[in-house]
Amino acid sequence: MNETLRPQIAEERCTGCERCVDICPTQALAQINDKAVLLHPDRCTYCTACEDVCPTNAIALPFLIVFADDVHWRRSASQNGGFNRL
Ligand code: SF4
Ligand code: SF4
Repeated sequence: MNETLRPQIAEERCTGCERCVDICPTQALAQINDKAVLLHPDRCTYCTACEDVCPTNAIALPFLIVFADDVHWRRSASQNGGFNRL
């Protein structure tokens, strides 16, 4: 996964409640020195559970808009004379 598309944890907001650690289905998170850390980024499936459960909004998951079928966009543009999504 792209380095910038991993959960970002704002250490100053983390109270060490461990809710994110407990809810993470892949054990990607851990608690170190009373702060949550993404210890195993390779395990993260980007499920958003940690972001949802954090009471202090210390975790953010950056998102990326991906056009999964760029061919359809181009085909639509050529057929309709515009950039309508199919
Ligand atoms: S849920 Fe939020 S405040 Fe609690 S340990 Fe995780 S990041 Fe820190
Ligand atoms: S997004 Fe899901 S898999 Fe990734 S660290 Fe958060 S809870 Fe774990």
